[in-house]
Amino acid sequence: MDFRVLGCHGGETPKHQCPAFLLDGRVCIDAGSITNMLTLRQQQRLEAVVISHAHMDHVRDLAFLADTRAQQGGPPLTIASTPGTIEVLKRHFFNDKLWPDFSKIPDTKRRTVVYKTLAINKTTHVCGYDILPIPVDHTVEACAFIVRDKRGAIAYSGDTGPTEQLWDAIAAEPNLNALIMEVAFPNAQAKLARDSGHHTPKTLEKELRKLGDKRDMPVLLFHIKPVFQREVEQELARIKARNNTILRLGDQYLL
Ligand SMILES: [Zn+2]
Ligand SMILES: [Zn+2]
Repeated sequence: MDFRVLGCHGGETPKHQCPAFLLDGRVCIDAGSITNMLTLRQQQRLEAVVISHAHMDHVRDLAFLADTRAQQGGPPLTIASTPGTIEVLKRHFFNDKLWPDFSKIPDTKRRTVVYKTLAINKTTHVCGYDILPIPVDHTVEACAFIVRDKRGAIAYSGDTGPTEQLWDAIAAEPNLNALIMEVAFPNAQAKLARDSGHHTPKTLEKELRKLGDKRDMPVLLFHIKPVFQREVEQELARIKARNNTILRLGDQYLL
């Protein structure tokens, strides 16, 4: 898969962008920074956005993407996520108050946006990929994803603190090429990380031991909070892990 980083931080400055990752130019995982990174033509090419959870740093560009798509016309954009997250998006985001309900614009026969519900722990086919949502430990309903196609699979943690089921799913996945994994706060902010369902380098190091015989697999790290970027990077440099990389804006991988 062609994997491109549109945004990989847990906050925003001119040098930091919220999480969004583009697969093969067609599908985005999370929507923290899409419209600020893709041209109109690239936005029009998107078929689906798969959302890990309904926090603003992961959904906000659905607003501008839907608005632009409504004007561009063409096939509807699929927003795929788990039932609780779709419910939040309908009720609190595209609710005709905060932003228009693009699932009935221009009308219910020609929708700009269609929702696709991903049952938790079940694989669903979305635009050429098989997507398996696995519940993780965050402050709201949140899922990691195993994303597979004919070429192999990747795992995406979404936002999570220490968890178990994700590591079981990773262990069970035969053709996993990489894990895209969150880490947010420095070790000194352990309480904040715990309360907000995120990792520090120290909790991450402990989690990565659960990779077992997959410990040489590439682990691509994202979601560092801009305020703590340097501190977290220094601490990550000291943890014992085989194949960690901190993702940068614009990074592109064949996974
Ligand atoms: Zn979150
Ligand atoms: Zn987040």
